Amino acid sequence: MGYTHYWRRPATIPQAAMCAIADDFGRVVLTLDDAGIKLSGGHGEDAPHITPEGVCFNGLSNCEHSPTDLCEGDCSHEAFAFLRIFRPADWQRPENGLFLDTCKTASKSYNVAVMVLLLIAKHHVPQIEISTEGGGRTLGRGATILSKHIWARKRMSCEL
Ligand SMILES: [Zn+2]
Repeated sequence: MGYTHYWRRPATIPQAAMCAIADDFGRVVLTLDDAGIKLSGGHGEDAPHITPEGVCFNGLSNCEHSPTDLCEGDCSHEAFAFLRIFRPADWQRPENGLFLDTCKTASKSYNVAVMVLLLIAKHHVPQIEISTEGGGRTLGRGATILSKHIWARKRMSCEL
């Protein structure tokens, strides 16, 4: 049931890199949507937040699936946030300059979107470290979506 994503990141992501991450992710949202992965804002409602300051989303809480479906009628779980400027808790100390962050998705469908975003982030900020429980399949699915729909295309400049 877990499916917790862990990643280590620098406190500040360079503006150009965050812009590129948001740009790439913005272009994959419709593809995810077509695959049945509906994203919302952090609280499970409205649209996902995709800006040059960061990306924040969740699954859709009012997903209209049946209570007997795997999601039990609620495709949201913990909000996922990858912000340009990370605000660590008081107790948090960086290791080798990287801060730990996590997101538990309970393997709801937005799990794949979390993996996609983390792969995009690592592509633009290579020192980011990612690990995911039971990650092989999710990682594979995320990578497939990326290679088909994002990185096969010519890079565009950030237009956010
Ligand atoms: Zn659902």
